[in-house]
Amino acid sequence: MDLSADLRIELPEDALALLSILDTAGFEAWAVGGFVRDALLGRACSDIDIACSAMWADTKRVCERAGLRTHETGVAHGTITVICGDSAFEVTTFRSDGQYKDGRHPDSVSFVSSIEEDLARRDFTINAMAWRPDRGLVDPFGGKADIELGVIRAVGDPHQRFAEDALRILRACRFSAELGYAIEPCTYQGMLENKGLLSKISAERVTHELQKLLLGPHAGDALLGCVDALSAVLPELVAMKGFDQQTPYHIFDVLEHTARVVDGVPPYPLARWAALFHDMGKPACFFKDEHGTGHFYGHAAVSVPIARGIMQRLTFSNAFIDRVLALVRRHDDVVPANPKAVKRMLARLGGDTELFAALCDLKRGDARGQSPKFSGPRIALADDLQRTLEEIIAADEAFTVKSLAINGRDVMRLGVAQGPEIGEALAQLLDAVIDGEVANLAPDLEEYVLRNVIGKSFSKKLPKSVDGMGEGA
Ligand code: ATP
Ligand code: MG
Repeated sequence: MDLSADLRIELPEDALALLSILDTAGFEAWAVGGFVRDALLGRACSDIDIACSAMWADTKRVCERAGLRTHETGVAHGTITVICGDSAFEVTTFRSDGQYKDGRHPDSVSFVSSIEEDLARRDFTINAMAWRPDRGLVDPFGGKADIELGVIRAVGDPHQRFAEDALRILRACRFSAELGYAIEPCTYQGMLENKGLLSKISAERVTHELQKLLLGPHAGDALLGCVDALSAVLPELVAMKGFDQQTPYHIFDVLEHTARVVDGVPPYPLARWAALFHDMGKPACFFKDEHGTGHFYGHAAVSVPIARGIMQRLTFSNAFIDRVLALVRRHDDVVPANPKAVKRMLARLGGDTELFAALCDLKRGDARGQSPKFSGPRIALADDLQRTLEEIIAADEAFTVKSLAINGRDVMRLGVAQGPEIGEALAQLLDAVIDGEVANLAPDLEEYVLRNVIGKSFSKKLPKSVDGMGEGA
């Protein structure tokens, strides 16, 4: 890409004002890191970090004298947050770092006098640039050239840099997914040599990076290219790598299929995590028939506990885990695109229409990752399912117990005993409404309960001989 001009870099006014306040007080302040990288790439950047020659207490004094609010957000590491206009900026004293045991903050820091020394502590060349309007770009490690090449390269000795902080291994994979960049071979080797240290990194940090990776526009390539590094946090990928499916439906191994499905679903967490997990049970379910064709019967159900284990390890909320697992469990279910079948599936998904739409996304993505010989009709079916869902929502049709015209209290009033029978009766009613056996109107539903629910459970509970008498009566 052409980066002939650093002119692309334009600092927002609030940031310029803050740099100027620090400058006027005799300090040297620079925009650094992600902001500079993203500005050169022409990408919007959410946060602007500032590196400054002032010690944090001096930054605080100068900013407060200029009427700005400050917060002591990380003073042990030389960082304060300054509110300037509508924006918050992290201002950090030029520093060089010791070890990062928590993968977030170095255990010890020493303050240094130049921006170049500060840039040397940063992880990758593309993240180790600084900029200010009067001096332009400072790029001691060739970050701009690496952006042009599309390469992620460690600053300094890769082995040492990943040994200092293993989180950088996942950051490299994540930047590869976000930017579509290759990881420079010595850098990748340094990642592999240190991947065992990832066990020291907190689950929250690992999850944060993995999710950013999965949401990246090049997530599939990053999964394939970085699998041997990622396997330290996702050992479940190992069985998928190179696992030949030996079926005409697939032209890719399980890992490459999964990577394509991840790319084939829209970039939101529910769909991308479900895509990552959906076929993890395949290697365990594989067998070959007498013709030499591979099969994976029941693999969706086997993927579920594997996915649950990973998500619990990664400390996801139970609510999110349940939704992802529902998609994994159902991804291969046959759902014809007719209202009855869609409503039945909706009922199974607890009436969660968003989850059903995600299931359509997953089915579409799954088809895209299969042999093109078979994917066309499967993609069309997923499209039809989505349309049917939209029609059901637009027509306000019943597909949850809640949307029935009578509720549990009504059912009890009609004579169904308190307890699990109430739920069963309502589920039976919902099935009947979905199947068109009864209209969703209170009198019709009540009559249905009296005839089919109470009548049946009464006859079911009576001893045989009495049952017979009952029928004759
Ligand atoms: P983004 O904000 O898009 O996630 P970023 O590169 O800006 O990416 P931040 O966590 O905001 O990431 O970090 C800001 C800068 O701090 C980085 O650009 C990099 O220079 C440096 N940095 C962050 N984490 C590390 C680390 N673990 N090791 C070395 N330098 C780091
Ligand atoms: Mg950032």
